[in-house]
Amino acid sequence: MRNTMFNVLHPAPAVFAPRVGMFVLPGRKPVHTPHYLSLTSRGAVPHLTQDVMRDYTSIDSLYIALEDFIEKAPDDVPPLYKMQAEAHESTLRKFTCLPEDILLVMGPRRVPPVFTPMPNTGTAISILTSVGFRKLEAEDYIEAVRKVRPDIVVGLADLVVGLQSGIKRREKMVDRTHAYTRDATKQLYGDVGEPESESSAVYFAPVLPLENTQQMLYLDDLGDELREHISGLAVYEASSLAIVPDKIGCLPRLTLSGPKTPHEILREISLGADLITIPFVGMASDGGIALDFIFAPPLEDGSSASKPLGIDMWSPIYAADLSPLVQGCECYTCTKHHRAYIQHLLSAKEMLAWTLLQIHNHHTIDCFFAAVRDSIEAGTFTEGFLAFEQTYQPSLPQQTGQGPRRRGYHAQASGPGEPKLNSSSYDQLDDAAEKYAEAQSFVPTPDVSAEELQISGFAVKDT
Ligand SMILES: [Zn+2]
Repeated sequence: MRNTMFNVLHPAPAVFAPRVGMFVLPGRKPVHTPHYLSLTSRGAVPHLTQDVMRDYTSIDSLYIALEDFIEKAPDDVPPLYKMQAEAHESTLRKFTCLPEDILLVMGPRRVPPVFTPMPNTGTAISILTSVGFRKLEAEDYIEAVRKVRPDIVVGLADLVVGLQSGIKRREKMVDRTHAYTRDATKQLYGDVGEPESESSAVYFAPVLPLENTQQMLYLDDLGDELREHISGLAVYEASSLAIVPDKIGCLPRLTLSGPKTPHEILREISLGADLITIPFVGMASDGGIALDFIFAPPLEDGSSASKPLGIDMWSPIYAADLSPLVQGCECYTCTKHHRAYIQHLLSAKEMLAWTLLQIHNHHTIDCFFAAVRDSIEAGTFTEGFLAFEQTYQPSLPQQTGQGPRRRGYHAQASGPGEPKLNSSSYDQLDDAAEKYAEAQSFVPTPDVSAEELQISGFAVKDT
């Protein structure tokens, strides 16, 4: 394997079962797996500035989408590409002001990706930037990887987002993805014997959300011809974890399927996922929901999967509640603030509300993953999973309040002329403006006579 080291510590590598491991890249914090990758928007975890992230969270690995940065490329050079960096530096890291030891994973599209009306082609995939849909040529993607130097690059895949694909289309998906992978690895790592021109980014090859038989040739090639260039797998559907051939079973597996609940995360882990992207953490924070679950919950008699997975902080019942979001939680939010304050910040639409929730929710996920790793090592994961299912409700609570304002380009549009996703919290105060204008007309000017002043009256100061 290239510069990376991934050791499966428990159990044996080829077994498709929950496993713990250690992913190491030179210069980055080692990542204990299973672990999650925090999702970013334009290079930052939503609601967290880089210093807040450093000081108040344990986030150590990020997923960044190239489509967030390349609005008008190649006609207009995006600011990311203009950034000057030394040969040993990562332009992407410098541009996003991220610390040296954080693991940066770059993929072409956001997780979850928005459906694009333009189809992919044999040489390009369709993406959504802040100014609209366009094509990303496979060649330009490779060029971008060379230029911005992420730690890990997720290879291009010909995916059909949000639609069912027919047999012919599925064949095409495999052929194109196979070709993208072959070309990309050739261009990034060249032929053996030319180490100086090799890219420093390691390559995670996509595994398509299809049956084993449909992509057998491609998977075989990954384990054979392409094996020396591949450092990991990017899996788009949890069930694909079960079809990874033994030959590449020891590679780290990143899942991009976007689990919607902790139950789904546990299912992915039970199939041998190592790195997982979890959109619901940020979505819960946006929705004003403080996550509240642990692994493995103590199993009580008569448990009926009734415990909620989070608390809706919009609810006015917390308006005078001076307890932390979650009793016993050691995160910054829970140790410094109480529910009433968070409820107040949400009602006042203060940005700090979402920052504090994001800190707490990431801490909850950190503790969850740490406990999962311990349980795999102790051989109690399956019982823990069962106890989790018997204790917690199968879905996250519904949000009742409105989230922060959104630019909306990264959310699915319902059609042309769609209204703003979250309406503005502030508006013209027409009534007040009228009253103000009226009051203005009575304000005396310097040339007003004493009699007129007497009529309009004087302000009285309370002493
Ligand atoms: Zn907390």
